[in-house]
Amino acid sequence: MTQHYDLIIIGTGSGNSIPSEEFADQKIAIVEKGAFGGTCLNVGCIPTKMYVYAADRAFEAQDSQRLNIETSYHGADWQAIVSRVFEQRIDKIAEGGEAYRRGPETPNIDVYADHARFVGERTLQVGSDTITGDRIVIAAGARPSIPPVIAESGVPYHTNEDIMRLDKQPESLVIVGGGFIAMEFAHVFSSLGTKVTVINRSPLLRNLDEDLSRRFNEINQQRFDARIGRTVASATSDASGVTLTLDDDSVVTADALLVATGRRPNGDQLDVDKAGIALHEDGRIKVDEFGRTTAEGVWALGDVSSPYQLKHVANAEQRAVAHNLLHPEDMRPMPHEHVPSAIFTHPQIATVGLTEAQAREQGYDVTVKVQAYGDVAYGWAMEDSEGIVKLVADKATGQLLGAHLMGAQASTLIQQLITAMVYQLDMRTFARSQYWIHPALPEVIENAVLGLEF
Ligand SMILES: Cc1cc2nc3c(=O)[nH]c(=O)nc-3n(C[C@H](O)[C@H](O)[C@H](O)COP(=O)(O)OP(=O)(O)OC[C@H]3O[C@@H](n4cnc5c(N)ncnc54)[C@H](O)[C@@H]3O)c2cc1C
Repeated sequence: MTQHYDLIIIGTGSGNSIPSEEFADQKIAIVEKGAFGGTCLNVGCIPTKMYVYAADRAFEAQDSQRLNIETSYHGADWQAIVSRVFEQRIDKIAEGGEAYRRGPETPNIDVYADHARFVGERTLQVGSDTITGDRIVIAAGARPSIPPVIAESGVPYHTNEDIMRLDKQPESLVIVGGGFIAMEFAHVFSSLGTKVTVINRSPLLRNLDEDLSRRFNEINQQRFDARIGRTVASATSDASGVTLTLDDDSVVTADALLVATGRRPNGDQLDVDKAGIALHEDGRIKVDEFGRTTAEGVWALGDVSSPYQLKHVANAEQRAVAHNLLHPEDMRPMPHEHVPSAIFTHPQIATVGLTEAQAREQGYDVTVKVQAYGDVAYGWAMEDSEGIVKLVADKATGQLLGAHLMGAQASTLIQQLITAMVYQLDMRTFARSQYWIHPALPEVIENAVLGLEF
């Protein structure tokens, strides 16, 4: 029998936050084929940062001579880390989230634990059930994209979906990819004592502002074996691990292989064409500024449709779509202004707005300042030789166009600059209209702002 709902939600990442109290009078189906909570909770942002935190400690213990103290790192209890992250934290939240949606507190909600596919207009096949909805929200996320040379070789490989749950820490790991996921895992594993080799076609983190990308490559190409400008030509495996032959005939062997070469939106697994839902060429579901797909009554949000694959963006889009479902007469656009992001690697990176090159391309009369952490007192305390703050501002208006930070606590330090951008604060008065605690690290931002020439 076909069940009919007021609202169907596919995916329990950000999608699971839609049914607030305001939806209590609607009959809702939530469809989730995997673990409740989606990528961020189960295999993305949160567990990776829990690993990174441990890795940062291990890294610091191996890097303290410049502070004239003797510390050393004696290795990780890998299984205990896995247990702390998953058994003791993440898995409980995922299970609790599902139990809540299935329980008496949300009696208007049915949960379907299967893969959803469209079989017609606003009609889904979910396992053996057919369900229809007045409105459907597709919040189905993205998945790791695997280069054919690896997928077709038959070698065992890991992705973010299973690498954090390995039975034991590999002695050696080869990572294919040079984006943020690759660099976070390279930091985690190399800090914890795994011998890491990275293979990437282009420089690491190549989309960053050039000053950051160049410095990041200089620092990290010494830290692990980085084969830059290389691709994998073939892959084989045996009981001892994997062997990758690169396009220059060099060979990399390792106990384990991690593939982190980007993420593909899941819209292509939903038979969306059967429901009149159009896709972009890169696989994202097409949505208008309010989150509406090309099919009447069908909405999409998050990684499956967004130009940003970031959790805070997926959440913001979810809030917009939830509002628009409830208030069709007063819709809010997807909030895509001043989107910041951070990369929790070493050194940590955080960025918002335009790179210098983008600002120049867009015709701004730019003023730029690069300030080193090592220029301020807290940087001296840290004996920091790596951290930088790069600001890009518009000479004509005094507005900040972009902020690019690389160094300790970059993801925290940048927040003040995000606020400055959002509230259009004038960089000509920003530094001197507030106190900056002395001698704290934000003085590096104060000095960077003062260094902008107008
Ligand atoms: C390793 C890693 C680290 C990351 N770190 C960060 C970070 O530090 N900060 C940050 O902002 N972002 C980070 N991200 C990105 C972030 O995780 C995503 O942007 C975010 O989780 C997207 O949320 P979503 O709701 O769009 O999709 P998801 O959370 O992926 O949810 C989609 C859900 O839909 C389900 N689903 C898919 N298709 C179907 C179907 N056909 N039927 C039924 N169910 C289906 C999936 O099982 C999944 O649970 C990271 C990602 C990865 C992979």
